[in-house]
Amino acid sequence: MIEPGVTILVGGAFLIGVLGFFVMMASLLLRAFRWAIRSLAETTPPPAAAELGVPPAKRTCPYADCAHDNPPAAIFCARCGRRLPEPYDGGGHG
Ligand SMILES: [Zn+2]
Repeated sequence: MIEPGVTILVGGAFLIGVLGFFVMMASLLLRAFRWAIRSLAETTPPPAAAELGVPPAKRTCPYADCAHDNPPAAIFCARCGRRLPEPYDGGGHG
């Protein structure tokens, strides 16, 4: 003969177990869903160098009395007008 109190305790434990099972399954499904979205997002190309925080090569005027920061495509200094050195020195040919 099982007492009613024991039956209620067992039933409550069973209900809690079922609830925990559903919560666990929901979290697993959510995790799998996020993993699928992340795997899809990783197929996109990596960001450009500028977006990674790498600053573009500024053409700083080499003369101490000027030292003006020119845009990377500048050939002559925008402040003193003197020619800026090549951004790529040592190209392999003397
Ligand atoms: Zn200059």
